[in-house]
Amino acid sequence: MYNAANHIQDFLAFGEFGGVNPSIEDSSTFTFLTSEKMAEIFSTEIEGCYLYSRHLNPTNKYLSDALALLEGTEDAQVTGSGMAAISCAILGICSCGDEIVSSHTLYGGTYALMKNFLPKLGITTKFVDITNLESVRKNITEKTKIIYCETLSNPMLELADLPELRKICDEFGIKLMVDNTFTPMIISPIKLGADVVIHSLTKYINGASDAVGGVICGTHEFISSLRDVNSGSTMLLGPTMDSIRASSILKNLRTLHIRMHQHSKNAMFIAEKFEEMGIKTIYPGLKSHPQHEMMKTFLNDGFGFSGMVTIDVKTDEIANKLLPMMQENLIGYFAVSLGFYKTLFSAPTKSTSSEVDRDMMAEIGMSDSVIRFSFGLDNDIERTLERLMYCFKEVGLI
Ligand SMILES: *Cc1c(COP(=O)(O)O)cnc(C)c1O
Repeated sequence: MYNAANHIQDFLAFGEFGGVNPSIEDSSTFTFLTSEKMAEIFSTEIEGCYLYSRHLNPTNKYLSDALALLEGTEDAQVTGSGMAAISCAILGICSCGDEIVSSHTLYGGTYALMKNFLPKLGITTKFVDITNLESVRKNITEKTKIIYCETLSNPMLELADLPELRKICDEFGIKLMVDNTFTPMIISPIKLGADVVIHSLTKYINGASDAVGGVICGTHEFISSLRDVNSGSTMLLGPTMDSIRASSILKNLRTLHIRMHQHSKNAMFIAEKFEEMGIKTIYPGLKSHPQHEMMKTFLNDGFGFSGMVTIDVKTDEIANKLLPMMQENLIGYFAVSLGFYKTLFSAPTKSTSSEVDRDMMAEIGMSDSVIRFSFGLDNDIERTLERLMYCFKEVGLI
């Protein structure tokens, strides 16, 4: 088992004067001592030498190194958002004329990027049911460069069979790119065969809902190609994270293992109760989840099955009444995003998945009556359950 929590616990970065927190390098540019050194630093990446913060900043490097330890990769590069990480990682591999085979259940922004934006650059995507390996294989052509999926998909919580997808990638000599935003600590995609792992740091990893950020984790060769001054996507498209923000995200990363444990514990408790109440519940920790057994074989022990639970409340009207009512009853916030200390809930068809077209929604079973929860760190989850049951009774769901 890969123990990311131990690696992060042992991560060492002293402050400039021996402080217990690393110093923040609040500089956009760096000094050189000789012209020769300047030319050398611009032509090759030299460990410990910095030229300009859009290329690399020491504080961003601390956060990147800690995230490489989280995912078990050689290197990582933080970016200003999760979408920046996704687009820069794809553009680091694909050129005009290339194809992507992607899961059809994706974060709405990623779906829109692949469906509407990348075709403008001549990069096209075939959307498939990622759990259907035959269909994945059939859609690969000699132009395909990447198989793309989310470990646990948004919002239908479908698990990708990463070891089997790895085999397909090896067969065709292509890359497996995985968005692990829903399952940091819980699943280590690299250990299951991924080549590149992406996160939106905005969610669980930062966990404070005060920042937007992303990361690309992969081999040193791949990550430094993204920083190349002549051709790298993170260098030339400029999705740079601010160093002050990198410092604050690094501090929050230290409690990720405790938070993931508590999010998952609360979600498991509630998902079981929802199911007992006869509500259609999707949660990979439940035996009723089609990939429950597979997920068990993927898990790093001790962090549960994640804090995300998706339910179907039967009608659009019930969903519209429930969302504000749950907020009024202090269950949490009616807001998109995930990984906050409070529970967050939203209707994906009208928000985070509104970019997905209606036919595709029908194909993946996502309707207007679907509500997605990100369970918080509630100490007293039974009290939360009582409040939920009160709301469900008020709207006639139970
Ligand atoms: C939020 C999210 C993203 C996009 O990340 P941003 O930080 O908002 O740019 C990508 N993938 C998943 C699964 C997400 O939940």
